[in-house]
Amino acid sequence: MSEQTQDHQSLISKAGFETRAIHAGYEPDPTTGAVIPPIFATSTYKQDGVGGLRGGYEYSRSANPTRTALEGNLAALEEGERAFAFASGLAAEDTLVRSTCRPGDHVVIPDDAYGGTYRLFDKVERAWGVEHTPAPVSDIDRVRAAIRPGQTKLVWLETPTNPLLNIGDIEALASVAHEAGALLVVDNTFASPYLQQPLTLGADVVVHSTTKYAGGHSDVVGGALVVRGHDLAEQVAFHQNAIGAVAGPFDAFLTLRGLKTLGVRMDRHCDNAEKVVEFLTEDRRVDSVIYPGLIEHPGHRIASRQMKRYGGMVSFRVSGGEEQALAVCERTEVFTLGESLGGVESLIEHPGRMTHASVAGTALEVPADLVRLSVGIETVEDLVADLDRALG
Ligand SMILES: *Cc1c(COP(=O)(O)O)cnc(C)c1O
Repeated sequence: MSEQTQDHQSLISKAGFETRAIHAGYEPDPTTGAVIPPIFATSTYKQDGVGGLRGGYEYSRSANPTRTALEGNLAALEEGERAFAFASGLAAEDTLVRSTCRPGDHVVIPDDAYGGTYRLFDKVERAWGVEHTPAPVSDIDRVRAAIRPGQTKLVWLETPTNPLLNIGDIEALASVAHEAGALLVVDNTFASPYLQQPLTLGADVVVHSTTKYAGGHSDVVGGALVVRGHDLAEQVAFHQNAIGAVAGPFDAFLTLRGLKTLGVRMDRHCDNAEKVVEFLTEDRRVDSVIYPGLIEHPGHRIASRQMKRYGGMVSFRVSGGEEQALAVCERTEVFTLGESLGGVESLIEHPGRMTHASVAGTALEVPADLVRLSVGIETVEDLVADLDRALG
């Protein structure tokens, strides 16, 4: 990087969120002036003499310029020291565990963790010798009690959680983790860095499934880690290269393209979610609405403190039990029946039979009359009319 480029990126790193989203991590190409980073579809790089690397690139598992641009952008958005892009959210999570834990270590995870995260700890990390204890994110005393002093290396937090949208206090849990010599990891997939920046509240690592709001268009699977602290960054950098579950250049390009509009998309997701919540709360065919923006939500006060707004995810329980919940999911025409979340299009799903079917009969089981919405950025009147029709 030239001095001028460094000065410019340093100015951008102190700018507002949307300015960082659009400019951080990449400077127009000095030879062509290309404003957008090209998709560097190359595995290797010509060396000027043995070991003479132009621009520091040697082999694309280790580093690739399109991925570097995405990583620089993510680091700026989360206000972290460095970011690392992976092939999926779960690849990022596994790399983090291997960067920070050894067989015999222990991790505290949310008792309503994302299903894939739970499976990773239960079936993969456990077989490697890393044990876990589930604890509710909204109960600090129970998280503290789950910590095994000297053995617990990570306290893993999701906030809001999926699909019950429980809220954990990032600042308080960072203190609890640090008192025990553990790191606080926050899966920030649901909030996105636009609504919440865990590293500024004391967290050590942010995890993302960039598949969701970061990418934002349901057209790419990816993951990321953003870390605070030089030593931790070095550990993760080593393991990213040693394990190799990296984001490819085309995926990195799409994710970076999505991030540029994160702020405007999230504001519209929130506007639409608020109007959908207003409609559902007043409707007699709905039993209860779960949204951290509601004053009666048990995590509302903490969410107000640590989030800019309350996000695009809404869950509700219908009157009439499971049968009616399934019928609602199958009757919508604008909301698409499907898993995943965070794209511009609205999605509806029945957690009990779909995303959370694997936890039936366990402590993680969700109510049978629960419906989850990922509220998209369509015309909100169409979304409300669709739900009105589907409720029958
Ligand atoms: C989807 C998701 C993941 C896993 O990410 P993939 O990109 O699907 O591997 C992790 N955490 C949360 C909260 C998610 O929603």
